[in-house]
Amino acid sequence: MMRIRRAFAGMALGAAVWMSAAAGPRTIAITIDDLPLASTVATSSTERREVNARILAALKKHQARAVGFVNEQGLYRRGELDAGVTLLDDWLDAGMELGNHSFDHVGLWDTPLAQVQDSVLKGEVVTRWLTAARGLPLRYYRHPYTQTGHNEDDKQRFEGFLAAHGYQVAPMTVEHDDFFFSCVYDRLAGPTQAQERRHVADDYLHHLDVALDTYETMSQELFGRQIAQVLLIHDNRLNADSLDRTLARLTERGYTFVTLEEALKDPAYRSRDLASGRIGPSWLARWARERHQKLSVYGQPDPQGWVVQQHELLCKDQ
Ligand SMILES: [Zn+2]
Repeated sequence: MMRIRRAFAGMALGAAVWMSAAAGPRTIAITIDDLPLASTVATSSTERREVNARILAALKKHQARAVGFVNEQGLYRRGELDAGVTLLDDWLDAGMELGNHSFDHVGLWDTPLAQVQDSVLKGEVVTRWLTAARGLPLRYYRHPYTQTGHNEDDKQRFEGFLAAHGYQVAPMTVEHDDFFFSCVYDRLAGPTQAQERRHVADDYLHHLDVALDTYETMSQELFGRQIAQVLLIHDNRLNADSLDRTLARLTERGYTFVTLEEALKDPAYRSRDLASGRIGPSWLARWARERHQKLSVYGQPDPQGWVVQQHELLCKDQ
């Protein structure tokens, strides 16, 4: 549920990019958006719970305590509300945290501020009930499309509203177009298409490396070091099948998993960011813009090759 949103600097990935990929101690927090499921095809409640169970199993295996950001609209299915609530219980039972992602995934570019504020409050009813019952916090808000406002005035008004309701903004610094790969993956669901699905998953894993090379470079250029990163991925089938490999790859690159709370203690997150406008890029790009600092790269190039052709064939409506 996001659009490709980078203006890639256009330069080839230079030596600095590859140098930054050298192993070293790094930390990353995992955040997963669009619970109870981001899907471009119809899904039963049973399948939704099963997909989420596989995501939770991968997180537990790698001892990664993630935050899952909920769109409560997805819970309201006639006769299936209990199943949706149980799915959120599964997250809390697994030791994960839940956050608010608005009721119906409204962004601050296309939707008036007052309507987004209503959606924040409508979107916390079930999640607050579940977290409060366990004595857990409900403290993070992830902006849909990571759009933080048309302008500074909007942004500050909305952030004031969030703070008044006990929320802090959940930024993200790393994303790797999982929604793009996920659409293709969802639609290659036929019994004879396992090989194609595997191809998508392999390309997706490769794209993680391409993306990390760029975000690590941006971190180095902005801060002279590797900051605690925050990965944004979505609650979808592709990640249910890939998250084990994704987390293993992150570990290979030297990352250890920290909570979002821990990551946000990094002083980098006290940097000022400007209103995103329509495009909601990595906070690394936002900080660079605020500082008027030119970087050698602004996030990964768009996906390329076979998966793009598949996307054109299968995901025209997206
Ligand atoms: Zn979302």
